[in-house]
This record gives sequence, C-alpha cells and structure tokens, in this order.
Amino acid sequence: MSVEEHRKDIETCFGTSCNFCERNCPVYRILRVKTYTCRGKNRAMLGMIDGHYDATERMADVVYTCTLCGACDVHCSMDNTDGFIELRKELVNKGLARPEYKDAVERIEETGDVYGRNIDTSRLFEDANDGEIPMYLGCQYKGNKNEVLDIIKVLAKMGIKVKIADDESCCGYIAHVLGYDDEAADIVDKFKEAFPHENFLTLCPSCTMFTQEAMALNSVHTVKHVHDLVKSGKVKLKNLDMDVTYHDPCDLGRRMGIIEEPREILRAMGVRIHEMENHGYFSMCCGAGGGMLITDPELVEDMAKQRMKQAIDTGVDILVTACPTCESTLLTGSMLARKEYKKRVKVMSIWELLDEALD
Ligand code: SF4
Ligand code: SF4
Repeated sequence: MSVEEHRKDIETCFGTSCNFCERNCPVYRILRVKTYTCRGKNRAMLGMIDGHYDATERMADVVYTCTLCGACDVHCSMDNTDGFIELRKELVNKGLARPEYKDAVERIEETGDVYGRNIDTSRLFEDANDGEIPMYLGCQYKGNKNEVLDIIKVLAKMGIKVKIADDESCCGYIAHVLGYDDEAADIVDKFKEAFPHENFLTLCPSCTMFTQEAMALNSVHTVKHVHDLVKSGKVKLKNLDMDVTYHDPCDLGRRMGIIEEPREILRAMGVRIHEMENHGYFSMCCGAGGGMLITDPELVEDMAKQRMKQAIDTGVDILVTACPTCESTLLTGSMLARKEYKKRVKVMSIWELLDEALD
C-alpha cells in the first residue's frame, strides 16, 4: 500500500468535503484549525500526489499532529488513518520526519525499549517466570514493576498464572506508526526472538493490535481473557457498589471492538457506568497516540484535560480505563482539569477494581 493507492479515497474526500470527520477529532477540537483535520491531511496528500507541491516540513508538522485515534474513520466511509501512516512513511523517506522520532526509533533499536531503558524483566519479575500462560508487558508496563506485580497478583487470584519473558523487546508498533517501516521490521524480528510465542496475553492495547495485525499472532488482551472467565461463571466478583465512567482506549475499543467486555466486567462487580459524551466506537482519545507524546506534550495535556472534562460532566468521581498509556496521560489530564474546573476525577485501572472485588 502506498500514498498513491489511497488516491481514490482522497479524491472522494475532496469531492464530498463533508467534514463529518472533524466532529470528534481531539486535535481539531483543541487547535480549531481545519488543516489539522482528517480532511486537511487528505488535501495535503492529494496536492503532493498530484505534484502540485513537494512535501515540506510544514506538511510533516500537520501529518504528525495526529493521535491516529481513528475517530475520523468512524465518521467516514474510508480508512483515513491507514493513509496517514503511508504518508508518514513518505515523509520519513524524504527526510522530513521530526528528528525526535528518528531518535526514538534509534533508541528502540539499541535497547528494545521506547524510553531507552535497559530493563532485565527476568530479574524484575523473577517470581512470575513459572506460569503457564506467556504474557507480554510492552514498553509502558515493563518499567512499572509495582503495577505489573499487582496485576499478576490479581490474575493469580483468578487462577491465571502468567509467565513473563526473560528479556522482552518492543513489539515495533511505535516505529510502524511513526512511518519507519524498515526499522519496524528489524524491531519485530528482535521482538520475536525474545518472545517466541504464538499464543499469549497482553496488557497494552496497541501491542495487542499490532501483534495480531502485523504478525498474525494469537495475542489476547488480558481484559478479554478475564471477561471470558467472568462470563463463564468461573470467577466470582464481589459487589463494589460504585459509580464510575469508563474510558475506551482507542486501539482496544474502536480498533479491536473490545467495548462491551470491560463494561461487563465492571457491571459484574456491581459498578454502575455513567457514559461520557464520547464512548465506545465514538470514544475520544486521551491524546497520547500516534507518537504525539514524543513531540507535542503540551497538546497531549490539553487533549487529556479535554477528555477529563467529559468525565467531570458525568458527575462521577472515578474514571476507569484499561490501557497503561491512557491511564498515565489521563492522570495528568485529571490534575489539569481539577485546577480549571475545581473538580477531581480519580483515574483508576480496571485492575485496581478487580483487586478490590476478588478475595
Ligand atoms: S468525513 Fe471523510 S470524506 Fe468527509 S471530509 Fe472527512 S475524511 Fe473527507
Ligand atoms: S486520527 Fe484522530 S487525531 Fe488524527 S485526524 Fe483522525 S480524528 Fe484527528
């Protein structure tokens, strides 16, 4: 697939110009500049394909100012975000990607970790090396020992004994979405070498999606696995009698359709869900996707605050989610929203609630 192969879709967009895509674009809702909408990006792409102008750094800025959340795709008949990744590849080939992205990809190639840390998972999680089910942590959880140990404890309470790899390596998702495909292929090879499993559990929605789609592996997000156990009656949960709102991580909900599963787990714990204005397939990104955390932290914070305002508007005090990146981003958003709207909404992971609901 190339940018050129998206021509038909882009021309359709040019013809309709319906603008439905801008409605829930988290970037556009902050910046209010139409160039940054999905339609704006498609326009830029068409001009480049038609040879009206060469790609420029300015164009790269527009293309990379996008969380790749897919909210535009659900308002449109086309897969626009696939085209954006193709466009990013072109920009990388032309040397126009932002230098911070190149640095990030080089860090991953050198260390197997998006943050450039050398983490020996065999030592960190030495008590979780003898389970039956392999579990891939991913870069976001790998350095968060206490949270991972808590999740392992919760899973053990349900009879799920996981096995953490000795020295896992980044799955390659970040390099792929930044447009560094050759580098992503090498990173995928290293991932497979360190983690030679076909069937395994995952904790990060993006790792799950990428290992399924790009590598055809049978990865299962652990929330889905837990849901199946809860639904079959094999796991009994206590009634927590709580009111929360649930934030759908883009890759888990919109991309993989795991929308009802976390909600059914929450309901099985006696948790009442008060939906935000945007939820399910029409959920709104926390702001951290698409590599924006690397180059646009302030815009990411604004998007996280925007999402937390929706949580505040539900009237509940707790937001629950099932993605480590959303969790940390929304935590910041919660602090910022508290300052502005004088109301605190606590951000919790679904694992914390499960811990409370299990003996
Ligand atoms: S909804 Fe689709 S066709 Fe309409 S303007 Fe947006 S990208 Fe173009
Ligand atoms: S993927 Fe998300 S951030 Fe990017 S243009 Fe579409 S709606 Fe906006």
